[in-house]
Amino acid sequence: MKIRFCGATAGVTGSCHLLMSDKHNVLLDCGQFQGGKAQEAMNAEPFQFDPEKIEAVILSHAHIDHCGRLPLLVKRGFHGQIYCTSATADLLGVMLQDSAYIHEREAEWQNRKNARAGKPKVEPLYTAQDATDTMQYVVPVLYQQLVEINDEMRIVFNDAGHILGSAITEIWVKEEDRETKVVFTGDLGERNRPILRDPTIIKKADCVIMETTYGDRLHTEHVADIQKLIDIILKTTRRGGTAVIPSFAVGRTQELIYQLNQFYEHDDRYKDELSRLTVYVDSPMAMSATQVFRRNPQVFDEETKKLILSGDDPLDFPNLKFTKTTEESRQLNFDHSPKVIISASGMCEAGRIRHHLKHNLWDPMSSVIFVGYQAVGTLGRALVEGKKDVTLFGEQIHVNAEIYNLQGFSAHADQHGLFSWAAGLQTPPKQLFLVHGELAAKETFAKLLKDKLGFDPIVLNGNAEFEISGTDLALLNQDDTERKEAENQEIQRLRDQISEIHTDLEDILYNANLAMGSQLSAERLVQMNNIVQELNKSAMDLGAVVTEAGNEEDQIPKKV
Ligand SMILES: [Zn+2]
Repeated sequence: MKIRFCGATAGVTGSCHLLMSDKHNVLLDCGQFQGGKAQEAMNAEPFQFDPEKIEAVILSHAHIDHCGRLPLLVKRGFHGQIYCTSATADLLGVMLQDSAYIHEREAEWQNRKNARAGKPKVEPLYTAQDATDTMQYVVPVLYQQLVEINDEMRIVFNDAGHILGSAITEIWVKEEDRETKVVFTGDLGERNRPILRDPTIIKKADCVIMETTYGDRLHTEHVADIQKLIDIILKTTRRGGTAVIPSFAVGRTQELIYQLNQFYEHDDRYKDELSRLTVYVDSPMAMSATQVFRRNPQVFDEETKKLILSGDDPLDFPNLKFTKTTEESRQLNFDHSPKVIISASGMCEAGRIRHHLKHNLWDPMSSVIFVGYQAVGTLGRALVEGKKDVTLFGEQIHVNAEIYNLQGFSAHADQHGLFSWAAGLQTPPKQLFLVHGELAAKETFAKLLKDKLGFDPIVLNGNAEFEISGTDLALLNQDDTERKEAENQEIQRLRDQISEIHTDLEDILYNANLAMGSQLSAERLVQMNNIVQELNKSAMDLGAVVTEAGNEEDQIPKKV
């Protein structure tokens, strides 16, 4: 048996691993790379295998970094089965349509630019039609259902507790007289979280492929953060402000609704006051995702099932309102009564949340409450780090609102959670591959497993292919994606920097032109001089890599 690790090997996105037995090729996940221009450019690159030769995909869950390249796989010739849990299948439709919509809009935007510059048209990575075509290959199965996917492989999905439908997959691979049990964790959730069941402990495995997103970090207390959330909401609305919560549309928003439902309907301390306070969920995708949750109560945990049996819908309460149209969304900004607005995107990079920030960040009565991870370079991260002036829709906004960052709402197990899951293995696996984490997270976690459990984990740092035969392991191929990615990022950063300087320079020259006849101000001259010097310096820095950047560009295939 061979495993080729093709994604999420040097970071946390693009999850994709190819399992090859004597006769069959099966893919574990087919995710999209995310996080910046350099990563996103990797999505259009050729797959590291022939899509036509892949017989099946085993999908761990519906997050885009695990499923987002499936329509591209189909577009490039895949026509096998996509196995996932039925809740994942249900969410997948929503996620892929949304992703296709974004790719189509991006291509449209680029094409308007290209037309003005006399450049040829580009095509989106995939279209809504490609996403629809993908769904015909989906085979929804139940948790704990044994499925023979071919004459050499059987699989079982177990709860992963990460998002609705997420699974830890057990795969038995039979070759000649030997059977090897592979376990793929996908993303692992936290224990004791609302709605979802805990991640399943797997006691036996020959070979484990494990995520390590938070391999070197511990989360803050979840229960304390739920109390903080309601305290901040009440403090804000009592003084007449709006509490704005940027939230991921799938998973986090439903968890927030669940927690607010507890306060609205089951907590006598707050019932009265909250009966006068409306919570708006302003995200079409969050609305669709909430409907998918409501359709899949069979995968909820016991506590949530009990709530439903007692007659309470845990994802609804009287003052909860979903806004559908953009007009309804816009109206929220003209309504000055105290309220709560939950909106996407969670990192404030796109979507309706940006309008709500524009209308509330300046207001000292309002609060912005972050409940999710904020990646470097995002508006969310800038606000969490205390930036006082931000630009939204070309307008500079001074931040007067209170900014809060509650970190207890993660959908990923922290180091402690990951360790408890690994400690559930009764004997050390013959091979344990650590993927889906930054290098530091993987290395820290590997040391912990070694010291405390006597395991011998393999830290992946870039794509690689291994041959596995019983306890024997051979490295067949390795490429240093990590270095390539770091280089790509650096080149992109320099390019951005130069184009920024360039725009500033144009701006100044334009002003200087306008000022013709009168004197150019001394301040403008100094500014201009600084920019030219910086531009020279960047050009020199870039000198060494410019040629490589050129090569890199040649390697990226033109979009079909
Ligand atoms: Zn995930």
